[in-house]
Amino acid sequence: MRQIDHFITGGSGSAGSGRKHQVWNPSTGEVQAEVALGDAALLAKAVETAKQVQPGWAATNPQRRARVMFKFKQLIEDHMQELAELLSSEHGKVIDDAKGDVQRGLEVIEFACGIPQAGKGEYTTSAGPGIDVYSMRQPLGIGAGITPFNFPAMIPMWMFGMAIAAGNAFILKPSERDPSVPVRLAELFLEAGAPEGLLQVLHGDKEMVDAILDHPDIAAISFVGSSDIAQYIYERGAANHKRVQAFGGAKNHGVVMPDADLDQVVNDLAGAAFGSAGERCMALPVVVPVGEDTAERLKAKLIPAINALRVGVSNDPEAHYGPVVTPEHKARIESWIDTAEQEGAEIVIDGRGFSLQGHENGFFVGPTLIDHVTPDMESYKEEIFGPVLQIVRAKDFEDALRLPSEHQYGNGVAIFTRNGHAAREFAARVNVGMVGINVPIPVPVSYHSFGGWKRSGFGDIDQYGMEGLRFWTKSKKVTQRWPDGGGDGSNAFVIPTMG
Ligand code: NAD
Repeated sequence: MRQIDHFITGGSGSAGSGRKHQVWNPSTGEVQAEVALGDAALLAKAVETAKQVQPGWAATNPQRRARVMFKFKQLIEDHMQELAELLSSEHGKVIDDAKGDVQRGLEVIEFACGIPQAGKGEYTTSAGPGIDVYSMRQPLGIGAGITPFNFPAMIPMWMFGMAIAAGNAFILKPSERDPSVPVRLAELFLEAGAPEGLLQVLHGDKEMVDAILDHPDIAAISFVGSSDIAQYIYERGAANHKRVQAFGGAKNHGVVMPDADLDQVVNDLAGAAFGSAGERCMALPVVVPVGEDTAERLKAKLIPAINALRVGVSNDPEAHYGPVVTPEHKARIESWIDTAEQEGAEIVIDGRGFSLQGHENGFFVGPTLIDHVTPDMESYKEEIFGPVLQIVRAKDFEDALRLPSEHQYGNGVAIFTRNGHAAREFAARVNVGMVGINVPIPVPVSYHSFGGWKRSGFGDIDQYGMEGLRFWTKSKKVTQRWPDGGGDGSNAFVIPTMG
């Protein structure tokens, strides 16, 4: 059995707890590896290393730090195929989609290559007589990232790319379900010239996460995963005086106005609802046609498009999507379809009990379409995170606007229309963090920032871009004067003003 170890300076040695977690190949349903699960003692060792290496890295001039990022970018590009195959074999997403996972992380590394420019401070000369004011951003010290299974390359790079470029050391605790790519990224980062110990990968479950939350020398934690755990991380991390950003689950809606180009919508929806087996936080699992006529026309076009989807093993180049991540997750998705049926929704296309010929043990779920879903149903309120598209019919624009605005999650939303006024109104008024206008998966590019609202995001600073830089640094403000010795008549008995 292949063993996946921590990536820690000096080796994990005997400091690990000895516990292990099975890593599946979701396409075959076989266990393909075991990953070591760490504990507080192992974390303490990693933090000691990080404390040694971080001050030197922070003192390295930003152009030299950027060169490591440039080299890392090159190495990822050179290893793209290998990374995508490894990712796909543990996650189950198809190879091209796995390349997208790597690529969207790489784009944050590209932004991080610009750290000398992005990290420049602000300066005001002569803010008062002979007084200058400037601010600088300084690294926090040691940052940690706790990441979900569904983007094992992209999300770790969102975090450590920005944190390390800004001068921090970083400890990554990736998902124990697909841990190999994060380790490979850390190996490549070392090869790119990063000092040993700057980026360490510690595997684990709740035990390791709790150790991270409680360690006094970890200054900031970035988390992405499900909402209840995000809230827990936010609360416990903040109680321990850490800076915390914690992104949670999602239930993104796609509003379809009567004037939308339905062929385009169906094409976009198929990819956004079923791509990666629906295991994306920016998937579009709810479609909201406005008006009965739109609903009927849309449904008529959706049915053949969904029936034409090809489900396959993750390295099938013809497959639209592959298996889901674990047998437990397959069972959970199917039980949500049961719930929807019991709640009175119409199961138009039923993906339960799907079996792929020759791969009967794989964790496949067939594409599922559910109509007449209503806001009071549990299957609407909760995240399903599978290849399941729900239709919620809205009577008019205001009704459609209310649905995503009032939902507990507020990650992404899309509107499909040819009407600029409706789109503009929607974008301005919807109570959701990321909006697509005729764009089904509106993940902002790396030089903007990513973050949802409501139960999709706890904390107040977004991921990557300038927001990421702000999260991983603290600002220092300096007010200076250099008196010439003659006395300038100032006194501090009265609060100084620039009046
Ligand atoms: P998860 O919450 O199960 O796991 C996320 C991380 O938390 C993992 O590293 C895991 O080891 C750790 N963890 C699990 N249980 C824990 C516990 N009880 N205490 C402490 N830590 C624990 O999430 P997942 O299933 O890996 O990922 C899917 C979820 O992530 C979905 O809800 C999805 O919407 C969400 N997600 C959100 C975003 C976003 O940006 N908002 C992006 C990707 C995924």
